Amino acid sequence: MARMLSGLLSIALAIVPSPQEPTPVPPPPQPENTWSELILAGGRVWTGDGGDWAEGLPVGARYGRIEIGAARHRGAVVVELPKGAFVMPGVQDAHGHLLGLGSSLAELDLVGTRAFAEVVDAVRARAAELPKGTWIVGRGWDQNDWAETAMPHHDALSRAVPDHPVWLTRIDGHAGLANQLALRAARITRDSVAPSGGEILFDEAGEPTGVLVDAAMAAVPEPALDDAALRSRLLAAQRQCLSHGLTCVHDMGVSARVLDAMVALHAEGAWRLRTYVMLSPGERELIRRGPWQTADGLIVVRGVKAYADGALGSRGAALLEPYSDRQNTRGLVSLPKGAILALAQLCADNGMQLATHAIGDAANRTVLDAYAAVEVEGGLAARRFRVEHAQVIAADDFARFRDLGVLPSMQPTHLTSDMPWAPQRLGPERVLRAYAWRSFHELGVTVPFGSDFPVESVDPRRGFYAAVTTRGLDGGAPLRPDQVLTRERTLRAFTHDAAYAMFADSRLGTIAVGRRADLTVWDRDLLTCPPAQLLQAKVLLTVVDGRIVFDGR
Ligand SMILES: [Zn+2]
Repeated sequence: MARMLSGLLSIALAIVPSPQEPTPVPPPPQPENTWSELILAGGRVWTGDGGDWAEGLPVGARYGRIEIGAARHRGAVVVELPKGAFVMPGVQDAHGHLLGLGSSLAELDLVGTRAFAEVVDAVRARAAELPKGTWIVGRGWDQNDWAETAMPHHDALSRAVPDHPVWLTRIDGHAGLANQLALRAARITRDSVAPSGGEILFDEAGEPTGVLVDAAMAAVPEPALDDAALRSRLLAAQRQCLSHGLTCVHDMGVSARVLDAMVALHAEGAWRLRTYVMLSPGERELIRRGPWQTADGLIVVRGVKAYADGALGSRGAALLEPYSDRQNTRGLVSLPKGAILALAQLCADNGMQLATHAIGDAANRTVLDAYAAVEVEGGLAARRFRVEHAQVIAADDFARFRDLGVLPSMQPTHLTSDMPWAPQRLGPERVLRAYAWRSFHELGVTVPFGSDFPVESVDPRRGFYAAVTTRGLDGGAPLRPDQVLTRERTLRAFTHDAAYAMFADSRLGTIAVGRRADLTVWDRDLLTCPPAQLLQAKVLLTVVDGRIVFDGR
């Protein structure tokens, strides 16, 4: 039975600030500084650092830091691991959306629907439970999974659900479908003009189809989220992450309000997930404040997340050449070079890291051009600026990541989710320059891995499997054998390389004496089990700062 153990095991942590960490201000109320020790005995330990040893010395934690061959002091919590257990550095997700995950759990889940009619049925069923006029919000549809792969039209939806405003975002979050009432609330008519960086789709009669892309989506007034719902969504997301073995998430595009809620939960002792916060670009005041963290270093604010384009699925990704399956468009560019440069300079001046979403090769080039123009003392590479997704890269631009010291932050499950249709969007040659993490590795570029949850599953086993096989979940032929990675390389991308991307590679991401004791324990050896078994591996323990935060034994 899986359960949270945090309340049952009274392991309090002493806080030992590390010299490399940014100055903590202001300290939250501290838990009792009592002596603390956790010892994991048995199991194979993969250090992530070139070394690994089997069934040998126990790995332990004192005061939240790793000890190896730890002595068993009185009062230590000793966990005898079952035979075959596999201990590794805590798994990180270098790109996720915690509130989005919490919200997706609260909203109508349309992932995996096989036809638009299924979507309509799901919304109709939800509407039957809710008073008229209540918003119904859902997410996760993907017309590429339907027999009819054209973008949907709100007609059938509005007929089935005439009394509730409905807003259903696409799987990638870059397009949404509004019903008639939601279109009315958004004041979208046949005469509407899309804002720059957005698109309103119209049918042959000139009426809006209900589909809004990128910047046009902002017109839909989503129902406000009260503080209690915000907190419960964050906690629901945390539970999901910890139960899937994640010890740290890089949370993308966080507002001041969400950060406040998270810090308040932390002060109450309810936030246990290590969180690297990347602010929304609109949070200028917080950006100017520079790096900041809670006294125990569990929540670190040091990054900013911006968007340069949309997504490939909705043809919002900015390409250098037209889409192969729609010759009249190259997608959208939502943020021009000047705007990226201004934000990048603001980040550089305030000691902050910038991560910019760029999917198309045009967007990636624009971001690289902007980053290259940033004036920064000590050189740009020291700032570890990132490009999120880095999906389609012009042949000449791969090496520029290396030369500029820019990190492509990638998501292996995007490859397996997109590959059934990406070749049509990109054409047979361009697709070879897409989802190309191995091409980056061959140049010596560090590529942190994540999932982009809730766009993809929060479950890191899916990412491991995608990276080492490039196969879909249903098996089949490898979709991109040229990009297959070794087990070690894959696990390192989810640990050390993710830690590097948050300036924490000296504290996290490997098992070594003195590092923070963030560990994930599985029931089987992820380095040697057959590939399909990666998907069956069970999380036995999730440990953050020496404390068991999830027990799946
Ligand atoms: Zn994202």
